[in-house]
Amino acid sequence: MQAALPELSDAVRQQKVLIVEDSAFQRELLCFLLNELGFDDVQQVADGSSALAILRACRDEPPLLLVDLEMPGMNGIELLQRLSEEQILAQVLIISGREEALIVTVEGMLQAAGMPLLGSLSKPIVGRDLYRLLSTAGGGSGVASRGEQPGRAPTEAELASAIERGFICPYYQPKVHLSSGRVTGYEVLARWIEPDREPVYPTEFIPLATESGLLFSLTFSLAEKVLADLLRLSDPSINMALNVDISLLANRHFADDLIRCVAAAGCQPNQLILEVTESALMNDPLVTLASVGRLRLAGFGLSIDDYGTGFSTLRQLSRLPFTELKIDRAFVSEAHQNQRARAILYSAIEMGHKLGLPCVAEGVERKEDLLMLEGLGCHSGQGYLFARPMPAERLVEWHYRHRERQSLDAWLSD
Ligand code: C2E
Ligand code: CA
Repeated sequence: MQAALPELSDAVRQQKVLIVEDSAFQRELLCFLLNELGFDDVQQVADGSSALAILRACRDEPPLLLVDLEMPGMNGIELLQRLSEEQILAQVLIISGREEALIVTVEGMLQAAGMPLLGSLSKPIVGRDLYRLLSTAGGGSGVASRGEQPGRAPTEAELASAIERGFICPYYQPKVHLSSGRVTGYEVLARWIEPDREPVYPTEFIPLATESGLLFSLTFSLAEKVLADLLRLSDPSINMALNVDISLLANRHFADDLIRCVAAAGCQPNQLILEVTESALMNDPLVTLASVGRLRLAGFGLSIDDYGTGFSTLRQLSRLPFTELKIDRAFVSEAHQNQRARAILYSAIEMGHKLGLPCVAEGVERKEDLLMLEGLGCHSGQGYLFARPMPAERLVEWHYRHRERQSLDAWLSD
């Protein structure tokens, strides 16, 4: 199992794990799978009361909890309820053989209680699924092959200096039109690249940039590089999608500065798409609408990012000048085995059709994902199946090697 998967990071594997499961066979199976994935510190108990006692004793640093819902004595739901009442906030992975609706209810309960939920697995447990959920433990990418992140979080001064010295660089990940197989554009993903150091991923520095007010200069430093790469690419049919945090849209200078920056570079706004997360938009529509309206008027494309993770209604969406929906990758990866994720995926694509907005599905990793999305009428896809995010040095060569693909079959046969 492990040979085919990148190793989990040390930070993930060093976490303690507590299995709460009444079936001895299932406990052994889980222990075996966890050991295979590199977890050494795994404890197991057969009911909720024993688990509660252990968790109370290490409440400040609780282990990662793999919990079955149905058990004699204190069951999984009661245990989770007790933990939330006692403010013992362990990361939870639900394991159950019960119907999906029950699992969804428990997930909702955990969310309401602010308990970190890694996800749910149905029995029988498959190692690959366990790996996928555990790789998100701790909130990072969890996968060692990305290169271990520096042990210490970067400081504001280090980030400011990295922006100043041009070390925040764009990586590009292609978006592919599913019925023709053509590359339509690239999403820009920020990386902090310093000589002789592992790349730092955006989840490590975008929150710091946002809190410290550095995101404005970071985004413009990135945008300048992207505009230069767009010119080098010299393909007017291509667009570049920048992630734009809501705090920038709430800044009254952002729209003007961006319009000026694009004009100064000699590019057209319609070659740029701004990706804004759905939840952020719905939180603060008044402050952001002016920027959104002006950018759209100037010709920028506007994309709702991570669509499906927020709670926007058809009415709200139809009132915003968006040009694209990006469906969160969680729905794509889950759709094959989880009916709820599949339903959300279907309805997101249908919603896109109703609103006349093309949908881009994120996280297309496997050929099955691609075929499923194409069958659902999804407009475009993005994900490791087409390409991982690549540095600017590889962009032009990759683009001209792949852009002439005339059908999906060309991707499927790779
Ligand atoms: P996002 O906008 O949802 O970006 C997609 C993330 O999914 C990227 O992670 C990308 O590398 C990853 N990804 C792409 N294809 C696949 C796939 O097939 N499977 C899986 N498992 N993952 C895939 P990354 O680069 O670590 O970026 C994480 C987040 O950081 C982005 O999420 C975006 O919200 C944020 N971000 C990145 N660059 C910027 C930026 O310049 N500004 C702002 N404000 N946020 C940024
Ligand atoms: Ca995005």
